[in-house]
Amino acid sequence: MFFVDSHCHLLFSKFRSASEKLDEEEYGVTALVDRAAAAGVKYLLAVGTQLSDVDDLRSIVDANENVFRTVGIHPLEAAKHHASHSLEEISRVILREAKLPKTIGIGEIGLDYHYEMESEKQQKQLFHLQMDLAEQCSLPVVIHSRDAYPDVVAILREHPRVTGVIHCFSGEEDFARNALDFGFCISISGVVTYKNATELQETLKIIPLDRMLLETDAPFLAPVPHRGRINEPAFIPHVASKISELLGIPTESLAIQTSENFFRLFINGIKRLATF
Ligand SMILES: [Zn+2]
Repeated sequence: MFFVDSHCHLLFSKFRSASEKLDEEEYGVTALVDRAAAAGVKYLLAVGTQLSDVDDLRSIVDANENVFRTVGIHPLEAAKHHASHSLEEISRVILREAKLPKTIGIGEIGLDYHYEMESEKQQKQLFHLQMDLAEQCSLPVVIHSRDAYPDVVAILREHPRVTGVIHCFSGEEDFARNALDFGFCISISGVVTYKNATELQETLKIIPLDRMLLETDAPFLAPVPHRGRINEPAFIPHVASKISELLGIPTESLAIQTSENFFRLFINGIKRLATF
């Protein structure tokens, strides 16, 4: 039995705020991967958020056998990329990286109206573009949606041949039903361990077990009992044990099922890539 962290960010230094002192070694990629392995978290998906991280992600997956990656532009990076890159340039980089064997998805992409309503137009344009690229190279997408699910659903509906995962699902039942109808998986983060996450804890029960993935979204959203601290892939077992408790199933079955789901969704992508 092992776990998969289907969504983490391993370049912690990129997220470090000036006041926060992270020990480079303690939170270096090797240490994070080793602690994850020791906790039974065998495979990690390192998710891209911007074009400036593609070189680092390529090096990380080249150096770590059990780490895979995605390539894509996060909605909160949309305005910046819009201003500094042409759509042709963005497409060229994403398609180039997507051809590499350990790139198993396009993401994270989507819409975020919580932090940035004003860049809605740029967010939508890059979301559409990256959905088209995902279809072109037959890779699943990793969807980020915050306070934006009706628009996300509308765009997913326009791209019926693209599948993927709703990452860090926050609990809206209507969103879950639509995503499931489109054939998407739904990924649950440490948020499920929070006391106030009652909507998510309820909606969880309508997600079929063969469509569920586990994630940390490290370094953000550390699960209880580490809430408020730096999150890391080794904390997946806390997410899993809370879900098992809520669903009344053994953690072991959840680990086996969610790992199978991960490989079905993403590694089939690799096989399809062979004909790309
Ligand atoms: Zn993320």
